[in-house]
Amino acid sequence: MAKTKICIVGSGNWGSAIAKIVGANVTKHSDKFEDKVTMYVYEEMVNGKKLTEIINEQHENVKYLPGHKLPATIVAVPDVVEAAKDADILIFVVPHQFIPGLCAAMLGKIKPSAVGLSLIKGFAQGEGTKIKLISKIVEEQLKIPCSVLMGANLANEVAEEHFCETTIGCKDKIMGAIMKDCMQTPNFRVTVVEDTEAVEVCGALKNIVACAAGFVDGLALGDNTKAAVIRLGLMEMVRYVDQFHGGSKISTFFESCGVADLITTCYGGRNRKVSEAFVKTGKTIKELENEMLNGQKLQGPATAEEVNGMLKGCNSEDKFPLFTAVHRICTQQLKPQDLIDQIRNHPEHA
Ligand code: NAD
Ligand code: 13P
Repeated sequence: MAKTKICIVGSGNWGSAIAKIVGANVTKHSDKFEDKVTMYVYEEMVNGKKLTEIINEQHENVKYLPGHKLPATIVAVPDVVEAAKDADILIFVVPHQFIPGLCAAMLGKIKPSAVGLSLIKGFAQGEGTKIKLISKIVEEQLKIPCSVLMGANLANEVAEEHFCETTIGCKDKIMGAIMKDCMQTPNFRVTVVEDTEAVEVCGALKNIVACAAGFVDGLALGDNTKAAVIRLGLMEMVRYVDQFHGGSKISTFFESCGVADLITTCYGGRNRKVSEAFVKTGKTIKELENEMLNGQKLQGPATAEEVNGMLKGCNSEDKFPLFTAVHRICTQQLKPQDLIDQIRNHPEHA
């Protein structure tokens, strides 16, 4: 049987950490996977040299995941079509704003039998005020099925090989097992579930809650307040999935993609860190993203904006006061100090 060829579309902080895992697993399961994994790298100059050349010569993404060697099976390619054209599994792991453009470039130039696996936490703009799942953008634009992988997976900790879990949402049992072989290691434990939409929506929404957790940290309101914000955020996540993705399972919130990712992001994530600095410095989110993240991208404020448009469109802002407040704070319609007043009379307290 022909071996499965993998391409990783993306090479940021998470893309590089996952390349470390996938690059080792294709060697471990050499009976199933081709030993060369192409990685699409958005080309840029780092210390006067092309990032693709640095990765291929030093086997390290010195900008987005410094200090971690990538397996020699990983080959950086600056052209997304060249990287993706022969792949059977396309792992999408770029900041969500870049996915429509990349899919447009790949359309008609990949294997018709390829499948996608999105690790992207965020949404895309749909028609009018509607928002769309990234996996659906991939499915519609590239005409291939797209599964998802989301979990409590801060990239640097995964790269350090500290024990953690993750969730694959895949409706096809056979493909789910192949994807699990590609991802699982002794310290990166994979559960496969069929509830793909809820898995993906959890991954996107927790970034909004992480912004609220960061505001609480910036305001020095303490652990009880932060716990309350995390719980109310979780309840809004459940309500959102219930309202817009009917048929999803509550059990999905107890997987790594649900409550575990919410916790880790609200303590260790970039959205939390920048949101804390937003309160302490008074600078804008954009300024802080540029200053603090060295080219990495935030997803929370953009997701809050997209969700807010959707909630406004169906007169539901008042059912989601935390999501709404985060958007208004990020866009300076409210002060961070107003956060608690916005959630004091939360529908959960009625
Ligand atoms: P990142 O935040 O490190 O983003 C920077 C990447 O974007 C770089 O590879 C950069 O080259 C690329 N880029 C910049 N401009 C581009 C353009 N015009 N076109 C295409 N690419 C461009 O990326 P990341 O951390 O790998 O995040 C990717 C996704 O994974 C996000 O949805 C994120 O929420 C999710 N995620 C991240 C982590 C984490 O800990 N970093 C963990 C789990 C999930
Ligand atoms: P941040 O983007 O806030 O760093 O969150 C990373 C993440 O998704 C961890 O699972």
